[in-house]
Amino acid sequence: MKTTRRRHLGSLALGAGLLAGTACSAIQLGKSGAARVVVVGGGFAGASCARALQALDENLAVTLIEPQMTYTACPMSNLVLSTSRPLAAQQFGYGGIRNQGVTVLHSVVTGVDGVARNVTLSNGSVLSYDRLVLAPGISFDWQALPGLDEAAAQVLPHAWRAGAQTELLKGQLRAMPDNGLVVISVPDNPYRCPPGPYERASLIAHYLKAHKPRAKLLILDAKDRFSKQPLFMQAWQTLYGDMLEWQGLSDGARVISVDAPTRTLHTDFDSISADVANVIPPQRAGAIAGIAGVADASGWCPIDPVTFESTLQADIYVIGDAAIANAMPKSAFAANAQAKYCAAQIVRSLAGLAPLPSTLINTCYSLARPDYGFSVAGVYKPAADSWLQIEGAGGVSPLDAPVDVREQESLYAKAWFETLTESVFGG
Ligand code: FAD
Repeated sequence: MKTTRRRHLGSLALGAGLLAGTACSAIQLGKSGAARVVVVGGGFAGASCARALQALDENLAVTLIEPQMTYTACPMSNLVLSTSRPLAAQQFGYGGIRNQGVTVLHSVVTGVDGVARNVTLSNGSVLSYDRLVLAPGISFDWQALPGLDEAAAQVLPHAWRAGAQTELLKGQLRAMPDNGLVVISVPDNPYRCPPGPYERASLIAHYLKAHKPRAKLLILDAKDRFSKQPLFMQAWQTLYGDMLEWQGLSDGARVISVDAPTRTLHTDFDSISADVANVIPPQRAGAIAGIAGVADASGWCPIDPVTFESTLQADIYVIGDAAIANAMPKSAFAANAQAKYCAAQIVRSLAGLAPLPSTLINTCYSLARPDYGFSVAGVYKPAADSWLQIEGAGGVSPLDAPVDVREQESLYAKAWFETLTESVFGG
């Protein structure tokens, strides 16, 4: 069933603005009929992009390829670890996207031929495209930290992709001794969700304070500075006191190897045995980015900031966590914004129109306790070779705010999640 264009344009003001001049007409490519856009990855970036493409032109043949029948969202998953929030509250199906007219295939893309312009699925079938969007999120760099591989992550869960790993970490926290030690190992930048590890530490401390008040939580960080640091530090001091300790690179806290059987983390200066070790691995773009030839030596994907088209392969666009979007953080908010922006540029490109740059916004909420939130917002513009933050636009929650301001921001955080997931997966 095709939904009406009127219904979707309201949520696609950005795309509509960027489409001025196309008269939103259906884009036909020669005799083959409607243009074919294939989107790989049904997370915040890919699902949003598929919907935006279809809404901008209902005659486009949009195919979304995603292996999972159910998407499990990471934002708010730290609450699953620390409260009674069920994992099911994080999970969304693809019915709403199908209802909009997008063809959804549950499969893994195993090959990309940028010259023949087709993708190969795990069952061997081949799908041609006129434009390809890669939105595979992250993969874990299992070579980067000696001792850490996929098997070790069953003992030292990362929970950096929500789902079974979230449940595993939650179970370990429930089962650990009352006076136990939880250690969180945080990688160097760039990685998915810059403030995520610190929100996680806060919410685990919230759980410990209520259920295991003699326990300790130690953050071992591979860097000295992190997102919203003064706000987190202030909240930790106020809410958790000595229970939570952060050590950075200058303290020698960078984890250089791990031993899964003993849950021991080796740093530059020390060896620490934990009761629960949440080791967040170094990351890179999802594996298909390397296969498609759109990832560079950093493991991430360079893009033309004005369009999100890969600088390494024509007609392949990369959005979300996998892309190098410079000042824009790897967040669900940014993934959604990039997706709508990129969809509009693709529709313009199919119509033979030049790209039209625009600004994008990101807001990241963090919870230091379920009812204590703060945020950072930024406005970004595409420049010649990078996304730049616009000075003076956006901002961060004030330090020393009254508790009702923090409570209000925690409500905004939850409302943001509901609104975002409804717009991406609802309908
Ligand atoms: P993903 O959401 O990972 O989606 C990628 C999809 O691609 C997956 O579904 C995968 O199955 C699919 N895929 C991969 N390879 C293939 C292939 N070869 N073929 C087909 N499909 C493929 N962001 C915020 O904005 N706010 C928050 O509060 C927030 N909190 C977070 C808390 C935690 C603990 C974590 C870990 C992250 C948080 N984030 C938050 C970040 C957010 O989850 C990510 O930035 C976002 O999920 C990125 O979206 P994506 O679509 O790029 O990747």
